[in-house]
Amino acid sequence: MMRLNFYAGSGLDRAAHRRKDEAWLADRLRHPQAARIIPWWRGRHLVTGSDDAPLPAYLPVTADWWGWHLSMPPIFLGDDGTHSYFAVDLSPMEDVDTHAEVAKLGRFVELRSLGTRIGQRAGGLYAYTRALMLWHGKHRFCGTCGAPTIVAEGGHSRRCTNPECNAQHFPRHDPAVIMLVHDGGDRCLLGRQARFPPGMYSTLAGFVEPGESLEETVIRECLEEAGVRVTDVRYHSSQPWPFPSSLMLGFHARATTFDVRPDQEELEDARWFSRDFIRQHQGSEQFRLPPFDSISRQLIDAWLRG
Ligand SMILES: [Zn+2]
Repeated sequence: MMRLNFYAGSGLDRAAHRRKDEAWLADRLRHPQAARIIPWWRGRHLVTGSDDAPLPAYLPVTADWWGWHLSMPPIFLGDDGTHSYFAVDLSPMEDVDTHAEVAKLGRFVELRSLGTRIGQRAGGLYAYTRALMLWHGKHRFCGTCGAPTIVAEGGHSRRCTNPECNAQHFPRHDPAVIMLVHDGGDRCLLGRQARFPPGMYSTLAGFVEPGESLEETVIRECLEEAGVRVTDVRYHSSQPWPFPSSLMLGFHARATTFDVRPDQEELEDARWFSRDFIRQHQGSEQFRLPPFDSISRQLIDAWLRG
């Protein structure tokens, strides 16, 4: 069974063969019934509906007002069988919160503030949009020669404008491991960073370093962050995490040492929790787990189920 974590599962056929077909892309953008336009504004997404049940909102395909505000051509995301989805960057707009045409459609909000209430498909669609938009924003210049780059392949690459260089650049992810460490019995190791909400404990995590396998990263991070040695590193599932550009690779691992020594620069606390403690105290002021949109919560819940 494929485990589908939140921020994946947009359900789109990415139709990569269409990315270089400029005539087809332009044609889809001319037909109101053929396209859905997802706007992005300075890190925020457009939603409508109530805060409890937000829904994705789209720009009217043929309206003339938004085309003037784009920082770059529309990005082709893919097809759902009925519509072709495009993402557009409206960040040059200064007055988005008071713009009359925007107000008719909805409001711009941070993706993480929506949580799982936005639903799997829209969550996946918005995370996909966010990852691409953030990558474009940071790659306007060529990393090889320093010349400006331009959008290519429907927004899935950038090409250097220096004809002597002509380098092509593709969206990047930063692989990170995230792991539920258990003692082989009834306890798991959770830690908290100072920036977490009060009482929240989560799994350990860290970026994969150059020249390192995922298993080596899990072992190193557990030792660095909590002073605990682990073995039996087992893959669980993965999650796109565009905050800003990670791919989370989730594992379970078994501890072979149990004395916890948190690295105070990374964690303000780390300790062992029993299943009974978590079940009894989860959601209290004293103790809470990470939100459901995170892979950390899925790793913990999978272990709780045994
Ligand atoms: Zn270049």
